Amino acid sequence: MEFGSVVGQSIAEDLSKSVDDSSSGCVEFLRDLVTIPSPTRGERLACERVMHEMEELGYEDVHLDEMGNVLGRVGSGPRVIAYDAHIDTVGITNPTHWKYDPFRGVISEGILYGRGASDQKGGLASIIHGVAAAAKVGIPDDLTLWVIATVHGEDCIGLAWKYMIEEHDFRPEAVVIGMPSHLGVCRGQRGRMELEISTQGVSTHVSHPEHGTNALYSMASILMSLPKLNSSFEKDHPIFGPGSVAATSIGSRSPSLTAVPDECTIHIDRRLTIGEIPADAAAQLETLADVQETNAHVRVLDYDLPSWRGLVFPTHKVFPAWEIPEESHTVQAALATAQAVLERVPRIHRSAFSSNGCITAGQFGIPTIGFGPGDEIHSHTVNDQISLAQLKPAMSFYAAFPHVYLAKSE
Ligand SMILES: [Zn+2]
Repeated sequence: MEFGSVVGQSIAEDLSKSVDDSSSGCVEFLRDLVTIPSPTRGERLACERVMHEMEELGYEDVHLDEMGNVLGRVGSGPRVIAYDAHIDTVGITNPTHWKYDPFRGVISEGILYGRGASDQKGGLASIIHGVAAAAKVGIPDDLTLWVIATVHGEDCIGLAWKYMIEEHDFRPEAVVIGMPSHLGVCRGQRGRMELEISTQGVSTHVSHPEHGTNALYSMASILMSLPKLNSSFEKDHPIFGPGSVAATSIGSRSPSLTAVPDECTIHIDRRLTIGEIPADAAAQLETLADVQETNAHVRVLDYDLPSWRGLVFPTHKVFPAWEIPEESHTVQAALATAQAVLERVPRIHRSAFSSNGCITAGQFGIPTIGFGPGDEIHSHTVNDQISLAQLKPAMSFYAAFPHVYLAKSE
């Protein structure tokens, strides 16, 4: 590893050997994790498996918080870095669409197939084993490294971090997210928010529709105006592009199918680029001419479903965009680490997804980077998979990053 010049040749060689020794254990662990279904709010068994692995590998303070996130620690210095990957996955609709059983952990030609392999169990397994490999060599004295398997990653990304920061004042100086970045360095993502727009009408018998006001017809004009809104967003970004808006579902209320509906509601997904303020995005919808003319109501949605441990931590469904400058210390340390591990200039990863970075960096301003094995083009698909060849470089990155980060900040 070239980073010997940054952290010292003997540490670099020891880390490299320690990762080599741990890599087969990482594959076995990942395979096991993939065989344990962990849909959002049903992560219990996977969390218990993660705790067991951490304990076997010698992590300290392995525990669950009240929400159900798993935390484990190595080192006990004053400077704190956190590694995070979400343990939950999206579900399975039709298993017959899958080439391989999504919960068997099938490996074929160096690829591990299964739900969550890319998003983010591959990152999580590599973090847990990469950090353990680093701990065997020795964590720098002034460092505490927390490894966290977070919940709610798929249905309310960022909630776990909002909880840990607001309720436990957990504020590490840097966060590394094991996202499927295909071994590229991610330093920002678009944000998102969920809203609904509802129109009100007056119900009447359908045989005399002219006696009422049809809430569906009022909504029709609003719906047709949404696509045009996409070309009106002023903020753009060289990496992430502009924001976007889309209606994703529609529903109406009527006393009967023989009555004019008196309410219609659409669900809106609004992607936010860097510099777009969530309140402004809501105001854009409120001031649409068709919304004004129909007296429609715009509302930011809330999330208040209980975690697998029963904790309810209500939040607005607002997940800000985030960007950490390329010249920042954290990004420079990540790029240097990736370059040493990959032995080439690393890519800056353009993620189309969202991650816990929306809260750590977007809301709380904690320097955050994403790096991990797997490619997001496979995430949420019936071909969910990860190339096993990417696990070792990812482990090496997680093992080496703290050394480079600390050495560069001296
Ligand atoms: Zn996902």
